[in-house]
Amino acid sequence: MYYSSAGGSRIMHEIKFAENIVKTLEPVVKDPGIGNVKKICLEVGKMHYIVPEILETGFKGTPRSRKLRRAELEIKVLPLKVRCRNCSTEREVEEMDFTCGSCGKSDTEITSGKEFTISKIEYSDR
Ligand SMILES: [Zn+2]
Repeated sequence: MYYSSAGGSRIMHEIKFAENIVKTLEPVVKDPGIGNVKKICLEVGKMHYIVPEILETGFKGTPRSRKLRRAELEIKVLPLKVRCRNCSTEREVEEMDFTCGSCGKSDTEITSGKEFTISKIEYSDR
């Protein structure tokens, strides 16, 4: 999964995520027990290359129903981790270098960093 860092497509990327958040939450907030949403807490793996500020801007620009209109995003970026299939060493990846720091093999699997989870929403009661 690689994304170009060129302006246009980069912003489109966050907008897609913002639209997905809205699409996921609209059916949830239809529940009459849920009032206006104040905060949406997200856990986003580093692998998605999300820039939180752009995601927030994208979210503000996404059409959504009244209950979601004032919601703020709280974005927690989760680290990218790989585990070596050869020696089972797990480590955090900083630069996109997936080789094992222990045995040098590049046969690693991603164990964390691909998450995109809405972990919590805060809303007022009706
Ligand atoms: Zn290894």
